[in-house]
Amino acid sequence: MVGGGPSGLLFSTLAAREGLRVTVLDKWDPPNFRKPCGGMLTLRAIKRFKIRTEGDARGINKIRVNTPVGVFEKSFRRAICINMDRRDLIRQLAERAESEGVRIVTRSYVRAVRIKNQNIKVYTKNDALEAVLLVGADGVNSVVRRQIFKQKLLADRLGFCVQYLIEADERKVNSLFNDTNFFFYGRQYSPYGYAYIFPRKNTVAVGVGALFSKIDRRLTEYLNRFISKNKSMRELLENSRSVKLEGYYVPLCGFLENIVANSCVLIGDAAGTVSPITGEGLYYSMTSAEIAFQAVKAAFENEDTSISFLKEHYVKPLNNVIGSDLTWGFRLMKLFKTGFSLGETLSKTAVSVGDEVVNIIAGVKPYIHCILAALPQVVRTLGVSTIRRLFGRVDSQM
Ligand SMILES: Cc1cc2nc3c(=O)[nH]c(=O)nc-3n(C[C@H](O)[C@H](O)[C@H](O)COP(=O)(O)OP(=O)(O)OC[C@H]3O[C@@H](n4cnc5c(N)ncnc54)[C@H](O)[C@@H]3O)c2cc1C
Repeated sequence: MVGGGPSGLLFSTLAAREGLRVTVLDKWDPPNFRKPCGGMLTLRAIKRFKIRTEGDARGINKIRVNTPVGVFEKSFRRAICINMDRRDLIRQLAERAESEGVRIVTRSYVRAVRIKNQNIKVYTKNDALEAVLLVGADGVNSVVRRQIFKQKLLADRLGFCVQYLIEADERKVNSLFNDTNFFFYGRQYSPYGYAYIFPRKNTVAVGVGALFSKIDRRLTEYLNRFISKNKSMRELLENSRSVKLEGYYVPLCGFLENIVANSCVLIGDAAGTVSPITGEGLYYSMTSAEIAFQAVKAAFENEDTSISFLKEHYVKPLNNVIGSDLTWGFRLMKLFKTGFSLGETLSKTAVSVGDEVVNIIAGVKPYIHCILAALPQVVRTLGVSTIRRLFGRVDSQM
């Protein structure tokens, strides 16, 4: 296993529980240590992967979406997501993995991987390891994807995200943000992305994510301007104990099918499993890990780790479970890229559309259900021909 992030650790735990011998190689110590994250974990992820909420975690029951034409807000009766410290999540997953017997080797940068016939070799700075199956869980710039699949993500299929983690007194955070996650759409906040504020107990993650090919100046400029114009953020900063800046790439490529080779699978960000429209990656990457594990288990039982077996048992079920969200998320992102901005859409349609935007962000139902629920209103206002023209343009660019 190359990569000890959420997807790699989950896959390894499940595999070790079945008696497979798993070695995880991660370049950082502890694994995944420096991966930046907003830490918004939707309820479906918490439930499905039995994540304990602890430490700095805060339950969120309200989503507020600011657009150029108005604000859409939705309160839920109970928490629909948890904002948590990424390191707490990784600690939990790593403990679980080690308790099942997974060997985690940190400070182990993988520089090359080779597969010849059934022979797998993984090269780190000091070591050459052999394996019967290789899993690439090494994130958006995956060395496994680049070397085995010869596939790089291009700038229009990549996002970049920068954020500050601001530590302050819990009462201050409560009084300013309470249990609400904030999203800000519009050109002034981000080129083809959004700004966000995710409060935890003592920490607030405030960031800007954007489509890489559309970034016209430093993203920190967008972020600093956003903060300077937001009264609550200014007040938080004045009362902050510490501020840390971090940033990294996010895959925004929709559903990739080229994620299996003979005796090799890609999972998580390496396989592009992030929602292109919301940037949610934790749920999708762990789901890909779970489905890939089922496929690998079946492959070993059948003594068949061929590309065709793995396609049938991993790519197909993965498509059934998350393919629709990733594909529709990609279409919506492309739609905004053609100039049909979220603000314009919402201004011409009704509040019910804003409601469905919140549902997509909160991950409370499949994207296609949200789109279908909003469609009658959108069609009534914009007309079928406009919709067909826009989606036609989007599809032809994919
Ligand atoms: C700023 C930011 C904010 C985000 N906020 C959210 C959010 O709020 N909610 C959400 O759901 N998603 C969010 N995401 C996305 C989410 O973080 C990812 O989708 C998720 O981490 C994917 O997990 P992964 O295990 O597939 O990959 P990663 O977490 O990227 O893990 C990859 C691992 O591979 C290791 N690695 C890489 N290359 C090598 C190598 N050559 N040798 C050895 N080890 C290697 C790295 O050290 C790392 O630990 C955010 C992303 C960013 C960048």
